[in-house]
Amino acid sequence: MAVAGQQRILNFHGVGEPGRALERGEAPYWLGVDRFCAALDRIADHPDRDRLSITFDDGNASDLLIAAPELQKRGLEAEFFVLSGRIGEAGSLDAGQIRALMQMGMRIGSHGVAHSDWSSLSAHALQRELVTSKAVLEEICGIPVQSAAIPFGRYNAAVLQALRSAGYAVAYSSDRGSSTSAAFLHPRTSLRQDTTDSIFEAVLSGTMAPWKRLRRFAGMTARAWI
Ligand SMILES: [Zn+2]
Repeated sequence: MAVAGQQRILNFHGVGEPGRALERGEAPYWLGVDRFCAALDRIADHPDRDRLSITFDDGNASDLLIAAPELQKRGLEAEFFVLSGRIGEAGSLDAGQIRALMQMGMRIGSHGVAHSDWSSLSAHALQRELVTSKAVLEEICGIPVQSAAIPFGRYNAAVLQALRSAGYAVAYSSDRGSSTSAAFLHPRTSLRQDTTDSIFEAVLSGTMAPWKRLRRFAGMTARAWI
């Protein structure tokens, strides 16, 4: 049932022990090192590996300390979406660590400044999230930052318009399912502690049940037009 040419994007968050107080509801998104490594093995060995992409949200220190070396061991690359307001804080990446990720062949994108729900912000506050984080990351990285991951996957038409206006070329949601490379908005599936093996395999293979795909499409359309 996999759709030819479509990408599946796996999204991760923290790995190992958090080095900061977690937000409410965040704990299930942190994976133990063994679970994380097993997931990377499945991705690296999967017959559809060429159609699988990997992202990380939140800019946790584990991105560099744990995730990047394990990715490299398996010949994998990933894009890391950093919160510019947390750079240098305990448990989060600092500027040198962001550059170290780039030197390891990883890409850097924006997750905004303060992990806010962009769909609930005023136009001014939203613009600040998008423009400030982009500028801070570009200063650190020394290259344009043109991709953004939407915090909590919460967006609407105003968020998508503001992303385009701020100069982003690509945005990532948390809508699950497959994406086409030409799209502006790419759905992703987050691997959580409670993600079962069968769901993980369905995500990797692009064999999500048709009713789930329909529901996702309806959800994306509604959010894009509200
Ligand atoms: Zn996040």
